[in-house]
Amino acid sequence: MIRLDTGVQFVKGVGPRRASLLSARGIRTIGDLLLHIPKSYQDRASFVRLDSLHPGQDAAIHARVYQSRMIQTRSRGGIFHAILTDGTSFVHAKWFHGSYLHQSRSFAAGREAVMFGRVDFDRRDGNFVFFNPEFELLEESVDPGSLDIGRIVPIYEEIGGLTSRQLRRITAASIAELENPLTDPLPEELRSVHGFPDIRTCLERIHYPPKDEDVAALNRRESPYHRRLIFEEFFLLELVFAARRNQTHRINGVQFQTNDAIRSQVRQILPFHPTAAQKRVLKEIVDDLKSEFPMNRLMQGDVGSGKTIVAFEAIVIAVANGYQAAIMAPTEILAEQHYWNAVRILAPLKYSIGVLRRGIKPAEKRDLFKRLAAGEINLAIGTHVLVEEKTEFRKLGLVIIDEQHRFGVLQRLQLMAKGTQPNTLVMTATPIPRTLAMTLYGDLDLSVIDEMPPGRTPIRTLHVTESDAERTYRMIGDELAGGRQCYVVYPLIEESEKIDLRSATEGLEKISKVFPGRCVALLHGRLKSDEKDAIMRAFSLGSIDVLVSTTVIEVGVDVANATVMLIEHAERFGLAQLHQLRGRVGRGNHRSICVLKTSVRTSDIARQRIQAMISTTDGFRLAEIDLKLRGPGEMAGTRQSGIPEFHVANLMEDAALLALAQQEARKWVEREGDADKLIHALSSHFRSSGPAGLATVG
Ligand code: ADP
Ligand code: MG
Repeated sequence: MIRLDTGVQFVKGVGPRRASLLSARGIRTIGDLLLHIPKSYQDRASFVRLDSLHPGQDAAIHARVYQSRMIQTRSRGGIFHAILTDGTSFVHAKWFHGSYLHQSRSFAAGREAVMFGRVDFDRRDGNFVFFNPEFELLEESVDPGSLDIGRIVPIYEEIGGLTSRQLRRITAASIAELENPLTDPLPEELRSVHGFPDIRTCLERIHYPPKDEDVAALNRRESPYHRRLIFEEFFLLELVFAARRNQTHRINGVQFQTNDAIRSQVRQILPFHPTAAQKRVLKEIVDDLKSEFPMNRLMQGDVGSGKTIVAFEAIVIAVANGYQAAIMAPTEILAEQHYWNAVRILAPLKYSIGVLRRGIKPAEKRDLFKRLAAGEINLAIGTHVLVEEKTEFRKLGLVIIDEQHRFGVLQRLQLMAKGTQPNTLVMTATPIPRTLAMTLYGDLDLSVIDEMPPGRTPIRTLHVTESDAERTYRMIGDELAGGRQCYVVYPLIEESEKIDLRSATEGLEKISKVFPGRCVALLHGRLKSDEKDAIMRAFSLGSIDVLVSTTVIEVGVDVANATVMLIEHAERFGLAQLHQLRGRVGRGNHRSICVLKTSVRTSDIARQRIQAMISTTDGFRLAEIDLKLRGPGEMAGTRQSGIPEFHVANLMEDAALLALAQQEARKWVEREGDADKLIHALSSHFRSSGPAGLATVG
């Protein structure tokens, strides 16, 4: 008898060689193997008789090979041609580039085969024919009606060199020997409420559905067995989040007050009327700050939607209550930009603001830490170093984490678990679909700024190639002549920082030549902090006309007078990144242009990204397109964001089950309090295969 955590090598049919092939693909245990669920199902319970085939039909047939041969064509490969019969009639099958079938000699006359495909009518010879059908040759020794025919048959993605058919043998053997009953980690009450079968039934039937099962539902991954496994994966994740939420809800946090004096301070930093969305989100934040529990909130909003000022409003409330605040940014340049924003925005309130940046002199740093510990600093800004080093605050009341998709979800949880529980506001600029937000930030309450500040003029987006250089420079020249400023952005490829710098430097020279009277400057990652500062400051003051840069300006820069952005090698950027970059223009009331420059020949996917950029400026829409183009795991930056990889579940397709899982997880935690046991049971029962790394978080 075997268990889910038994190694695959203990299954009949898996020797050391296959075991190592499977293990190379991450399949080590029976649990892993059984989570490699079929990619589709074929109804082989009923075969169509050959004398009743008709063109256009998707048919499964069961017949014997009558004859087969190669047809040589002028194109390479040739066509493998087989004729089959079931005694009622004949059917032809043709495989292009099919010489491998000929060489294997497997289509010997008399051999039994099952075949699936669409029936075509071949006009030239007047026969019914399958083109490139899926097929399986049956072995005489195999009891017909066992695994491969006479039932709904699972089709597997080949893995570790094992064919679908071989996998069928192995999964069947595993299930046959699997201990029975099997402990089910999903609580019975959840199963019965939602009609989820028990785990043993699920595993059995997802691989070997009974004859009367709905094949279409199986193929849509909507069978009860699929639903349960998907739910279970989501439930585990959401349970971790819910437990985390619950934990923070039990800790007493810092409780702030608001009054007229504080409200008037908040008004002092506002140079404009907040939008309705900003007001709503601020209210959500203030309610959290006033409650006895620590705030754990995510503020989501598209680039330029005005998150920064809302965060600063929260900071003012914290400081006015006698507490310190901190802003943590994912990169140093961003930390510095927050610093400059803070200096500018908070000027009326005369706060003491400290910034912890790289290259800070040891003495300066010691002094900063001393003043933080003494409570002399109201607002501290830095990268994660701010928390990693044993920074002591006298009274830390609010932490703003500017996430920008760069901290992983696991890192963030660890981070927030450090020390006491200050109020935490996570800001994310990358608009992500709700389903993703729920998985990445399921432990946080969500506030969305879904409205842009007024007076924005739409950004026109153009696609050009090298041959359009003159036109592009003319456009830039026109803007500069009108007193506007321009960004020219070069991609940064990590492996070759030098090359990037070179192309950006060449860009600088070229631009300087094209616009002789203009001030052109270069900003890149290798500059010292104070050099970067100086350039950024000069650009925001308008004394630099064209800022050539590597992607260091991706986030946070805010210069309303900059109205043109030229993105060189736009094909090398991801969609999310392009969107972030473009968000640097269109910030004032001048019309803005974003020019995406690519080489003449680009990949399909790059072209689709550029097309998407031209078609919309809505970040949420772009994020969706991005997900479709690249798949959730690959969405720019999300790899680092630590979206767990699921076996069965799919974030985009299974959103409804994700929502259900969240709801149930929160209910469970509210009622039971302690979820650790259940988290442990769920994450350990498919031993080596729970969503990556989750167990360590709870
Ligand atoms: P985000 O951080 O969400 O990308 P910012 O906070 O940087 O956006 O805001 C973008 C720009 O819009 C800034 O120049 C900011 O001063 C301005 N802004 C923000 N809110 C408003 C508002 N309610 N009315 C007018 N301008 C605003
Ligand atoms: Mg911002």
